Amino acid sequence: MKILVTGGAGFIGSHLCRYLLEENGDEVVCLDNFFTGKRKNLKEIMSHPRFKVIPHDITRPLKIKGDFDQVYNLACPASPIHYQFDPIETAKASTIGAINVLEFARLNGARVLQASTSEVYGDPLEHPQKESYKGNVNTLGPRACYDEGKRVAETLFMDYHRSYNLPIRIVRIFNTYGPNMDVNDGRVVSNFIIQALDNKPITIYGTGNQTRSFCYVSDLIRGLHKMMNNPAFIGPVNLGNPNEFTILELAEKILKMTGSNSNLIFNPLPEDDPKVRKPDITLALEKLSWKPEILLDEGLIKTIAYFKSI
Ligand code: NAD
Ligand code: UDP
Repeated sequence: MKILVTGGAGFIGSHLCRYLLEENGDEVVCLDNFFTGKRKNLKEIMSHPRFKVIPHDITRPLKIKGDFDQVYNLACPASPIHYQFDPIETAKASTIGAINVLEFARLNGARVLQASTSEVYGDPLEHPQKESYKGNVNTLGPRACYDEGKRVAETLFMDYHRSYNLPIRIVRIFNTYGPNMDVNDGRVVSNFIIQALDNKPITIYGTGNQTRSFCYVSDLIRGLHKMMNNPAFIGPVNLGNPNEFTILELAEKILKMTGSNSNLIFNPLPEDDPKVRKPDITLALEKLSWKPEILLDEGLIKTIAYFKSI
């Protein structure tokens, strides 16, 4: 199959491109504006004969030639510091960008998957989060450019599906981690590992009693691929690991695993930071026979090894 991956040079995108090329034998075009993506994430596949990279911003129409069978839409800054850096560009990536990607899929007759997010649930009042939960997002806060952008993108995907019968898939991704996370990404797993390896203070935001559920990237990639290739279920579906940890528990685990001397420092909690997050993955199990296999300790060992190696 010929597959377009927008945001293919980013953390998740680079793993997806490699998986499609090497595990599935597809022809893959990666489209990226390199805002947070890096060519070094693609170094192992850059010279692959079935792989091509096209620098492009999805907020402008896609004019790539060739008949594509599938499109994975991952292009959007994903970490709070990156998506809040230029909130208007972030909102554009999920709205104008989504329209450009959907138009491209429509012209190609391609199936198109949207990388949505657990952030559509906001600071959730239902726990764990099921797909039926409508969410609790502050439209006015600093996270809204991302959260509301992703919510509009889901709406656009559904409207293209209803209006043009476009084959779509919507996946709500929960906190994912692993090699190729950017050192300046600012997300909790990469921050804590880098701080621990450098014996610098571990920056806990708030009390550290807020929770997240961390999914190793290879589990997520399997889920994305299963969702894209299932015959009829369009989603939305939660993909994430339902094992929930407090941020303090994560810090303690990383300190122990790295043998670090770092101490903990407590910084202010960012505005609208969700207090809890944990996916209900019943639907993914039922419709896709998918569940994560990598436990947090196992995934952290691989991720720590990656950050030691760079
Ligand atoms: P990332 O920042 O590493 O990757 C995003 C990629 O998109 C980068 O390569 C970036 O350069 C590119 N990009 C950004 N804006 C673009 C634009 N306008 N045009 C073209 N390319 C653009 O982040 P990631 O963690 O790999 O996330 C990938 C996708 O998955 C994002 O859509 C994100 O919202 C979604 N997601 C990720 C997580 C997670 O935990 N990693 C959770 C929920 C959702
Ligand atoms: N966090 C933290 N220290 C850091 C980075 C993040 O305590 O150095 C917290 C953050 O406030 C949030 C959680 O860890 O409660 C997850 O943050 P991240 O940015 O990884 O992802 P989010 O789920 O908030 O999008």
